[in-house]
Amino acid sequence: MAPAREWFEKDYYKILGVPETASEKDIQRAYRKLARQYHPDANPGHEERFKEVSAAYDVLGDPAKRKEYDEVRRLGPLGSMGAPTGNGTRGAGTFHAEDLGDLIGSLFNRGRREASGPRRGADQEAEVTISFEDAARGAEVQIPVTGEAACSVCKGTGAAPGTVPKTCARCNGTGTVSDNQGFFSFSQPCPACHGRGLIIEQPCPSCHGTGTEHRTRIVKARIPAGVEPDSTIRLRGRGAPGRNGAPAGDLFVRVHVLPHPMFGRRGADLTLRRTISFADAALGTVLTVPTLDGTVSVKVPPGTSAGTVLRVRGKGLPNPKRKGARGDLLVTIDIDVPDKLDAKQRRYLEDFARVFPHDAA
Ligand SMILES: [Zn+2]
Ligand SMILES: [Zn+2]
Repeated sequence: MAPAREWFEKDYYKILGVPETASEKDIQRAYRKLARQYHPDANPGHEERFKEVSAAYDVLGDPAKRKEYDEVRRLGPLGSMGAPTGNGTRGAGTFHAEDLGDLIGSLFNRGRREASGPRRGADQEAEVTISFEDAARGAEVQIPVTGEAACSVCKGTGAAPGTVPKTCARCNGTGTVSDNQGFFSFSQPCPACHGRGLIIEQPCPSCHGTGTEHRTRIVKARIPAGVEPDSTIRLRGRGAPGRNGAPAGDLFVRVHVLPHPMFGRRGADLTLRRTISFADAALGTVLTVPTLDGTVSVKVPPGTSAGTVLRVRGKGLPNPKRKGARGDLLVTIDIDVPDKLDAKQRRYLEDFARVFPHDAA
């Protein structure tokens, strides 16, 4: 599941049952009502629905995110983005049509008026929200990034549609010219094309030859398994396109992780609470507990007290900082003290109390 893709596929307004014109208050009210209705504690079996509602509110409940979501929705379905071009990878992400435009954009001239030499593209920031499971396992996500991007009309070439940048006649496309001074020959950037080797004769009317425009684009990226909630990952070269052949900037993506109805986490350790009877606590037992992949048996030793943490090695989350390393599953034991006793149970407990006297400290 890739929540950024969900921005295209899911109608968060519909999920919360509010019109697109709903006020912040209406959205909050609708969310509270649905959250109460589907909360796993109150109404088990509705985890998916609860998650969906939470994800919808995570976006619509935040005015900045909502604005971005509305903008993304206006762009239409993903299908219009064009098919991915091969499966080559660059940095942490996947190479696709968008990048090709950026790449071409950084290879070709931005136009005569912008001929002030190479300049690295700006770093950009974006946010993505993923599920607990996706954070644990890693996920392909599609991140909307608003800011400077390769011009969608000329794909970043800076040349008017139907025209192509021409090979520079002065340097024959090499981008450098030699200057002979006696015995020495100096090589320097070609003054006609500013070192690009290409000349744009007809600038793109949309970007005036700069090859860039302000818009929301979608960046595909792989979120590493075990990513820490609210951490920032750096995608090299996925920021704003560079100018005059300079490299693109980096994209810094803040990763938000939705809570899990059952598990918590502490670093790479997965946490879970389990309640046992005080008889089992005294006598010892074996619990079957869930992990992110299947269940495991956990031995509860005799004489276990409330709050004891049982550790199942290697059943936690992958440690994104140490390849191959995994955290542990930490099971905190709660002990259920019965609050309703029938006559027989009461008798047994009174017998127990007599043979097992205990002075309250
Ligand atoms: Zn353009
Ligand atoms: Zn030249």
